[in-house]
Amino acid sequence: MSLLALNNIEVVYDGVFLAVKGISLGVPKAGLVALLGANGAGKSTVLKSISGLLKAERGQVTRGQVTFDGEDMLALDPPERVRRGLVHVLEGRRVFEHLTPEENLLAATSMHADRAKVKRLVDEMFARFPRLAERAKAKAGYLSGGEQQMLAIARALMTEPKLILLDEPSLGLAPFLVDEIFDIVRRINAEAGVAVLLVEQNAVAALELVNSAYLIDQGRIVMSGTAEVLASNPDIQDAYLGGG
Ligand code: ATP
Repeated sequence: MSLLALNNIEVVYDGVFLAVKGISLGVPKAGLVALLGANGAGKSTVLKSISGLLKAERGQVTRGQVTFDGEDMLALDPPERVRRGLVHVLEGRRVFEHLTPEENLLAATSMHADRAKVKRLVDEMFARFPRLAERAKAKAGYLSGGEQQMLAIARALMTEPKLILLDEPSLGLAPFLVDEIFDIVRRINAEAGVAVLLVEQNAVAALELVNSAYLIDQGRIVMSGTAEVLASNPDIQDAYLGGG
């Protein structure tokens, strides 16, 4: 059984614009899955339907089901979904720029959290992301793009998720940093057993990282399969991998 299952999800913005037209997909427990597609295809919208952020953006899930760990998610607000183990790292590395990395991490925990556990988690994050430990006293706004992306991922991990929704973590990063971020994603998945649903425009790199992928075009899934099968598909190569 899938950890996350979307069944025929439809999303409408402002009551008029049908951005997602009946999408079904699954992420297995501890799976590593990509959602690929061009600009504006609907990838971020799908992630927002899963984490529950759509209402704030005047979007609505008008049809379908989102099931996580056997439970219906659509009736729950975003913080309730985070408590179930479903966390969303938004596109654009949104960290608190005036806070240090440690303060950013603490902001992800509840005021009533067990302090010993919070300390253990912060230590774990600095061990996992040594570059953040080195910049511990700097305000997050002064960190590089790659470091801010690491901080955004670390902050999500503070919630001890079962699944991370990662929206374009490679956006705007130099190639060596993309490799570093993807390596981090691989390790979080392999070592910590956290499932990942990764949104990427960079299909070449993503298909080397994930087990399986879905291709979305104009709000519909047009192809899906294992990473190997998709990477060798001539249509995908022409459209997304720069030809065979
Ligand atoms: P990108 O990589 O550019 O973010 P995407 O595949 O993630 O692309 P979405 O951001 O999900 O695409 O957008 C899908 C469609 O929904 C686009 O046509 C977009 O203009 C529209 N859209 C996205 N957010 C909103 C919003 N808040 N209000 C109205 N329309 C929106």
